[in-house]
Amino acid sequence: MTRSPSSQPGRPADEDFLKQMLGRQKRLIVDRTSQFEARGLPSAEQLAETVAFAPQDGSIWLCGQRMMLMQGSAFGSIRRELIEALGFDKARGLITRIGWQAGARDAAQVSEQWPDGDHASLYSAGPRLHMLEGMVNVEVVRFEIDSSIGHFYSEFLWHNSLEDDEHIAAYGLGGEPACWMEIGYASGYASSLLGRLVVFRELECRSMGQSACRIVGKPAQLWDDIDVDLMYLDPGDFLSRSAYASGMQTQVAELPVSPDEQQLVGISAAFVAASQLLQRVAPTQATVLLTGESGVGKELFARHLHQASSRRQQPLVALNCATLPENLVEAELFGVERGAFTGADRSRPGRFERAHGGTLFLDEIATLSLSAQSKILRALQEGEIERVGGSEPLRVDVRVIAATNLDLRREVEAGRFREDLFYRLNVFPIHLPPLRERREDIPLLMSYFLHRFSQRHGRQLAGCSTRLVNALLTYRFPGNIRELQNLIERGVIAAGDGEIIDVVHLSEAGTPLAGVAIGLNADGRLAPPTVREPAPASAAARAAEAPLEEPELASLQAFLSGRAPALSTSLEEIELRLVHLALERSGGNITAAAQMLGMSRAQVSYRLKGR
Ligand SMILES: [Zn+2]
Repeated sequence: MTRSPSSQPGRPADEDFLKQMLGRQKRLIVDRTSQFEARGLPSAEQLAETVAFAPQDGSIWLCGQRMMLMQGSAFGSIRRELIEALGFDKARGLITRIGWQAGARDAAQVSEQWPDGDHASLYSAGPRLHMLEGMVNVEVVRFEIDSSIGHFYSEFLWHNSLEDDEHIAAYGLGGEPACWMEIGYASGYASSLLGRLVVFRELECRSMGQSACRIVGKPAQLWDDIDVDLMYLDPGDFLSRSAYASGMQTQVAELPVSPDEQQLVGISAAFVAASQLLQRVAPTQATVLLTGESGVGKELFARHLHQASSRRQQPLVALNCATLPENLVEAELFGVERGAFTGADRSRPGRFERAHGGTLFLDEIATLSLSAQSKILRALQEGEIERVGGSEPLRVDVRVIAATNLDLRREVEAGRFREDLFYRLNVFPIHLPPLRERREDIPLLMSYFLHRFSQRHGRQLAGCSTRLVNALLTYRFPGNIRELQNLIERGVIAAGDGEIIDVVHLSEAGTPLAGVAIGLNADGRLAPPTVREPAPASAAARAAEAPLEEPELASLQAFLSGRAPALSTSLEEIELRLVHLALERSGGNITAAAQMLGMSRAQVSYRLKGR
């Protein structure tokens, strides 16, 4: 997702994952908690930074994954219901495997986000994420890892386990350990990260009357009676499962590298649904109506639809109806016969004719006049067109894909769109979701665009900062994918080689992203995202660090810091912005504002009236 996404496109994600993980040979034996934590490459602060709350659109994010807050007691009742419905053993297996999935996913995200980390460091993020997610309080008893000889031993005390609380409340103390989901998590995290089956077992448990839970993790072959653990874990083809957990990367890896060819990228439910509809309708001859806001990628969908159809060898002709002047619509769509009107000195085919045998993509179809609509309707119904000034009807075989960002039904009701044409076009409607309804795709799209624009502009970037990922995960994106694409391209240009693209690079370019998300600070308190400490250097360097929300001042900052070669805002704009800033601070008192700026009261008033 972040630091160095898709650095080697085309590689299978799991193979790379293994190579990346096992290639690092390091011996590290630690048996004190403090050391263990200090060694961890992702610091507690960095892990906390990956948490973003976006109550404005009802989502929470951790390491680029959508999360939910649920009452521990609700989890407790799900657990009880499962036990009642399935019996202890089956419920235990199911819950253990849910934990495995959670652990494997976290491991995939962590290794993707910190690709430079060694096993030990990345491993140490697991228990801390487990704590951050509110499951247990982990105390390290012993931790040994040596990738070169495949040695792994890990022993923890778990305090305050959520699952124990729920289990004891429901069933009291017993003879069996009860931290099923948590054992699944630990096993899934370690196995996924190390690329081999590591099994954790709970030797003591609070549900058995001990004061804390003692868990030990070892490679599966070093346990006796491993069958019992495996029955619950059912790890099966666990490597392919960890690849599934890092499915985002797999999707990126499959993309071709050509910078000219844009791909459909997504894993979210809304995106997958739209893609499935596209795949289903593509091989048919049906007319397709693509709907969705501006910037959601309607033209790209139309291109893919054409490519997936039997007409792919034939032309795809695209026409944006909004750009056509009314008096040219007919000539453009149906062509002109020589001498049809003054200036028509030669015959030329229209778009329908040029698309013969292939596909005609009519974008923004709702902008056509009623008379143009009726001509298109006739062409669709009769499969025939007539050039302007022509006398012979011409047969055309064209598949139409129409697109609009308006609600065509409402346009019909308002009398602006022909009802018969609407029904002719609405044979197979596909709604393309706005980006804010498919946020899971944002990290993936960021990787994709980062890769694409790095190639195009010949840049070597180290990825995107966690802060930027969080800001974009919670940004509203009125301009949808096109806006995200522009933002990343701007970031690729603004950041230097070897740098990580950060919020500050986009803020300078006039996109105020800071302050969108609520994150966690290192103490675990909710706070606006941390702004990097300004370097104690020059004013210009400081100005480059702190993002400003006003585009005028951001452009001034970019110019001062030397990032922008020219001042993209007029001096008047900057002056006026400063006047408004001073007025805000003086509570609207013009005299006080003038004093702040070293101006006279009359000068300030003049500038305000000048607008
Ligand atoms: Zn326990």
